[in-house]
Amino acid sequence: MTTTPSGGEPYLLTPGPLTTAPETKAAMLQDWGSRDSRFIDTVADIRNRLLAMAGAGAAHDCVLMQGSGTFAIEAALSSFVPRSGRALVVINGAYGHRAAKILAILGRDHVTLDMGETTAPLGADVAAALENDPAITDVFVVHCETTTGILNPLADIARAVQAAGRRLIIDSMSAFGALPLDLDDVPFDVMVSSANKCIEGVPGFAFAIARKELLEGAEGRSHSLSLDLNAQWQGLNRNGQFRFTPPTHAIMAFHQALLLHEREGGVAGRGRRYGDNFRVLVKGMREMGFETLLDDDWMAPIIVTFLQPADPGFEMGRFYDEIRARGFAIYPGKLTVAETFRIGCIGQLDTGVMRAALAAIREALDAMGVRNGAPVLP
Ligand SMILES: *Cc1c(COP(=O)(O)O)cnc(C)c1O
Repeated sequence: MTTTPSGGEPYLLTPGPLTTAPETKAAMLQDWGSRDSRFIDTVADIRNRLLAMAGAGAAHDCVLMQGSGTFAIEAALSSFVPRSGRALVVINGAYGHRAAKILAILGRDHVTLDMGETTAPLGADVAAALENDPAITDVFVVHCETTTGILNPLADIARAVQAAGRRLIIDSMSAFGALPLDLDDVPFDVMVSSANKCIEGVPGFAFAIARKELLEGAEGRSHSLSLDLNAQWQGLNRNGQFRFTPPTHAIMAFHQALLLHEREGGVAGRGRRYGDNFRVLVKGMREMGFETLLDDDWMAPIIVTFLQPADPGFEMGRFYDEIRARGFAIYPGKLTVAETFRIGCIGQLDTGVMRAALAAIREALDAMGVRNGAPVLP
């Protein structure tokens, strides 16, 4: 797998959309009517497979929602946070900030627990915030904050939320399917993820796994016709269909991606491959003098943030272009604290691809006359 995927496409070393398998792309070559019984059966199978992946029993159900991950986050916040409720948004990156912004637009009362960009919230931090504010009804937390690639200690936080008797809404967009998120260890009320991250589908829809009791209670609560998860759930349960045009090709591709996920050994197998990618990447980058933003303990095998080199010959735009010309797309940083760039470990990539990417990075440095990746340290 060390040559580019096909037709000169670059490998996408990004947080998504990702490089997908040829079988996944091929599943999009047929047009489906939204009422075709095979399409409807496929949607049902997807919902069941996602529930199984989360270790869900009869108390939870899975609702698919058209759009990117943010659409499903907005749908979940509008459908599940009561209009008279108050949410605690745990923030350590752009996606926490985005959830707070959605709540502000929705007019839902909320407070934030802002940990900065390089610190993970602990269960004890969340417990203290809940104890100080009994009016909080719901807690929103991001599993892997893709802004930096930090892995938040979800099980610890979930137990704190459960002990305090509040609801937990998880954004596991960039982790679900590769990092364990099982209801046995992480009691959650709602979890949102999307098609085009660790399950390696193509963009087009996202999904929520939620307690049925909450789905039932959400009737008439959303501000939105299209982003109403209760109405979407009722529609899917009534006749297996989406209420509005489904992304048929993306759904068929996702189903194929789920079969490949199963063949790879499910969450454990996927996580193992990403972990191998991650270790090869971090070791190779450190050998070139680069430094990671985060300590090893907090890095998820999903995406890694590197500090930009101090060498005056280094120029980020040129670095990107040189690597891109060699068949790899990396990702700019999204931080306020430091000049960084990010390299993803997810998608149809293996250690051979990661080694080829490292060679391209070395060549890019050479092309700029940069001796090594050592950053300016604060
Ligand atoms: C990708 C991602 C999202 C959703 O982003 P979209 O661009 O709307 O798909 C939300 N949260 C996290 C943590 C993500 O990584």
